[in-house]
Amino acid sequence: MKIPTKLYLDETQIPRQWLNIRAFMKTRPAPLLNPGTLRPVTLEELNGIFCEELSKQELDGVTPYIDIPEPVLEYYKMFRPSPLVRAYSLEKALGTPAKIYYKFEGNNTSGSHKLNSAAPQAYYAKAQGMTKLSTETGAGQWGTALAMACAYFGIDLTVFMVKVSSEQKPYRKAIIETYGADLIPSPSDKTGVGRALLEEFPDTGGSLGCAISEAVEFAVSTEKCRYVLGSVLNQVLLHQSVVGLELKTAMDIIGEEPDVIIGCAGGGSNLGGLVCAYMSGRLRGRNNIRFIAVEPASCPSFTRGRFAYDFCDTGKITPLAKMYTLGHGFIPGANHAGGLRYHGMSPILSQLYSDGYLEARAVEQTKVFEAASLFARHETVLPAPESAHAVRVAIDEALACKESGESKTIVFGLTGTGYFDMRAYQSYNSGQMADFIPDDGELQRSLAGLPSVD
Ligand SMILES: *Cc1c(COP(=O)(O)O)cnc(C)c1O
Repeated sequence: MKIPTKLYLDETQIPRQWLNIRAFMKTRPAPLLNPGTLRPVTLEELNGIFCEELSKQELDGVTPYIDIPEPVLEYYKMFRPSPLVRAYSLEKALGTPAKIYYKFEGNNTSGSHKLNSAAPQAYYAKAQGMTKLSTETGAGQWGTALAMACAYFGIDLTVFMVKVSSEQKPYRKAIIETYGADLIPSPSDKTGVGRALLEEFPDTGGSLGCAISEAVEFAVSTEKCRYVLGSVLNQVLLHQSVVGLELKTAMDIIGEEPDVIIGCAGGGSNLGGLVCAYMSGRLRGRNNIRFIAVEPASCPSFTRGRFAYDFCDTGKITPLAKMYTLGHGFIPGANHAGGLRYHGMSPILSQLYSDGYLEARAVEQTKVFEAASLFARHETVLPAPESAHAVRVAIDEALACKESGESKTIVFGLTGTGYFDMRAYQSYNSGQMADFIPDDGELQRSLAGLPSVD
């Protein structure tokens, strides 16, 4: 059978339940800790920040499958299932015997997989009678996705967007406002954390960690408002499992099993979702698939970070998570993959990496854009810079197959499109793009700020 270039599942093949990978792990991820008491956070404590249903999901390490609410399924149907594509043209260009597939999540206005978690988060907030949500956004994809979901489910939204990004990507602001949300460049004078930071560093361009602090402060000090986060958390990986479940269904239909699955890793949500079905098999000894996380060399949480408890934000107001981290004060050097500039990593993926189920690679951004351009020319989709990290390693794996003559089946996650990142492409095209790699001293200084938890 000639495998089709694009395999579209039909609506009935969208999973009706999310897969909770924690239920399959021998070593569960360590619990979130209350930074004051250093004891595991309780449901009551989390309920002050998140919606109740989401707090429950955050703490549930045992239920293997969780029903997707009907209204969320209805929303998913407008942009899911996402296609699985065989990259015939890229394979030919590389002259590789490998088969390359990608699962494409860029087929919605947010331009990324983030809508998969935005929808349930907005839905649960509405169902609980909340009238408002707050969040942060770095590159703008999460803010866009959440603005879309909030517009649909009928709930107000305030987005704190890292100031430099809001200046670099004015059209992200325009989309977010088109969907009816308020956008505030962070740091701002709307919160205590923001005001304190502005006083100390009036010219700062902000950071994701700071925007998180502002969004949390805003939520806890506003009536009927909850905070939501687009990555890192267990609940977000749960929602993103639709990607990996669809992947497995599609691969089963075409009668293939991946040898290697590759995804970019910022906070870990798309990768956690992409690998979930096959990882649950690997954890039960049913396959021996390799899973590879790809991160920027400028923000190398897995490959150069430490597996330790740390704050999720700069302002130190969130719970502590045990994860691979570069330190909550780490500010990565300039890198155009805004969605991969986070100091920490999903506690679930961190545990899997520590236990040897996941590999990690750090790549430099000039090599990433080289891969992105090659991919765009042969496969038509212009990748988001974040997604292009996975493209880079998929190409490297395919080239290794050419060397060795092996015909592997390579699958990667193409998380989104790069139409808002043309400044980055421009910088690459004109030869002005540079690679920033932190030196050991810089990382040590930042890691010295980790909280001590004994
Ligand atoms: C946010 C984003 C990422 C990184 O986030 P994860 O939580 O690690 O998945 C990757 N790709 C795109 C297109 C994004 O918007």
